[in-house]
Amino acid sequence: MSAITVREALQKASRFLRENNIEDATFLAEYAIRHALGWDRTCFISRMSHLLTAEEWDAIEAIIRRRAAGEPMQYIVGSQEFYGLEFKVNPSVLIPRPETELLVEEIVKRARELWSEDAKLSVVDIGTGSGAIAVTLAVIGGRSWKVTATDIAEESLATACLNAERHGVKHKLSFVQGDLLEPLLQQEHTVDILASNPPYIPSFDVAQLDMQVKDHEPLRALDGGEDGLDFYRQMIQGLSCILKERALLGWEVGIHQAEIVRGWLEDTGLFSEVYIVRDLAGIGRHVIAVRV
Ligand code: GLN
Repeated sequence: MSAITVREALQKASRFLRENNIEDATFLAEYAIRHALGWDRTCFISRMSHLLTAEEWDAIEAIIRRRAAGEPMQYIVGSQEFYGLEFKVNPSVLIPRPETELLVEEIVKRARELWSEDAKLSVVDIGTGSGAIAVTLAVIGGRSWKVTATDIAEESLATACLNAERHGVKHKLSFVQGDLLEPLLQQEHTVDILASNPPYIPSFDVAQLDMQVKDHEPLRALDGGEDGLDFYRQMIQGLSCILKERALLGWEVGIHQAEIVRGWLEDTGLFSEVYIVRDLAGIGRHVIAVRV
């Protein structure tokens, strides 16, 4: 094949993705090209007439073929941006979602009202996956926060640790392997802030998810049991032992779950305030509980 330009590659790649029924074909084609060439957006726009070498086109084509076959772009390129930070991802962790950024934002906002900036707080992220919540809290939260990231899977903790290093906060984090609150209960570890985005898809609905989610993201990070609420139910059992006298809890929940989880948290009698935060689509997405 004779050499093609970046502009032609963009057309070819987006056409191929579109033919394979992939949404956002043009965006993804540009992304693949920029990734293969190591170019930023400005460079891409100003160098549309650059002639690609055979190796460059091969690298682009390889990415496009994998995406056309259903693999999420984030696993192909190995990263996803979260809260303006780049997170390494791989198929052992869930790809961080933009709505989870709102959870981190709300936790930091409420924490500023509850404690002083230099308060030494013990923070925990249950089921940290890529470490998106834990690492971001360590980056943007108070300077004396100590964040514990837990996960049942060793590979997830290794990924989260890499992300902590990458963002210069490894000294603020510790990593604990175990099932939900169990390791904390065993160590009688109490916390000021408890964050979690547990798996919450009802088992039956997992099969209906997009192919790029159900065939590629880890099932253990998605499936929340029959009604999707298993992990909240289990965590609620341990809250009275884990939370300090003054505490903040922030959980992400799935569609139609916010009211139920809010009710359960209210019923524990531990909190003075429990409320729901909606995502940009208007879905009740986070349940926040404050204990003062
Ligand atoms: N805590 C991680 C995130 O928010 C992983 C969540 C999960 O695997 N369910 O992205």
